Amino acid sequence: MKTLLPTSTAGSLPKPSWLAQAETLWSPWKLQDAALIEGKQDALRLSLDDQDRAGIDIVSDGEQTRQHFVTTFIEHLSGVDFESRQTVKIRNRYDASVPTVVGAVSREKPVFVEDAKFLRGLTKKPIKWALPGPMTMIDTLYDAHYKSREKLAWEFAKILNQEARELEAAGVDIIQFDEPAFNVFFDEVNDWGIATLEKAIEGLKCETAVHICYGYGIKANIDWKNSLGSEWRQYEEIFPKLQKSNIDLISLECQHSRVPMDLIELIRGKKVMVGAIDVATHTVETPEDVANTLRQALRFVDADKLYPCTNCGMAPLPRHVARGKLQALSAGAAIIRKELSAQG
Ligand SMILES: [Zn+2]
Repeated sequence: MKTLLPTSTAGSLPKPSWLAQAETLWSPWKLQDAALIEGKQDALRLSLDDQDRAGIDIVSDGEQTRQHFVTTFIEHLSGVDFESRQTVKIRNRYDASVPTVVGAVSREKPVFVEDAKFLRGLTKKPIKWALPGPMTMIDTLYDAHYKSREKLAWEFAKILNQEARELEAAGVDIIQFDEPAFNVFFDEVNDWGIATLEKAIEGLKCETAVHICYGYGIKANIDWKNSLGSEWRQYEEIFPKLQKSNIDLISLECQHSRVPMDLIELIRGKKVMVGAIDVATHTVETPEDVANTLRQALRFVDADKLYPCTNCGMAPLPRHVARGKLQALSAGAAIIRKELSAQG
């Protein structure tokens, strides 16, 4: 990457109100059939345009073609029955009605590859594509078939690897796996979570990332964060093993979070996507707010490995707020670039 401190987002951006209900997760589509396909592509263009106008360096699809970052991927797989639903506790935090794994899971056809080709055709910038990670996938399902979280995670890792290889062939530069579950199930992460993630990236030549956050700014997550005390040390449990993994980039929540910044020292050597935009508030950061977070991170990340980013996805935010935050991210990164070049 030529640009110093290349900016990007964790993934999702708000959808236009003509496509889906604003500020709502799992919002049903407002269009159908051919109109829906066209509408999703139009939304993807607008989302890219917002990123371009804000000066974001590594762009994404804004997840405009998905209802949800985990569910939409699973919907495309066989072996999962969406009619048969069970209530489970997601990430030990909140109850949700989820589909049931009823047989061997498999991917009959590509999930996002056409969308990735479409985005690749629209821009020459580096593209980052987000997929759910194996552990976060199993945590969003009721498993009546494998009856083992670890076994199901390995199956998903194989499926993710098939999809990732085709995304790479479609011209994606960075493939990111979203693993908010890594912040909750530390023993499993260390036993098999990181291993399944490495299975998912097996054989890839493009760069790979893992996004580990404290979740969207929804009430269940905000309540959970408020229960975590004054210092959030969750990352400390998993960083030593992640540091030794084959993953290239690690995407973290750092803006307004109570994560002690020095924990990043534990992944020294990795590229770090430093979350410098809070997605749980409608208040738009000033460029100086962003710059402050990046400055602190620079004490523990080499400048050539620092990637300014958002804490998490911005899907649930009003569009004008998300646009403002994209601009703040860019402007904040520019402040630090200037400081670094002044230091020579
Ligand atoms: Zn996130």
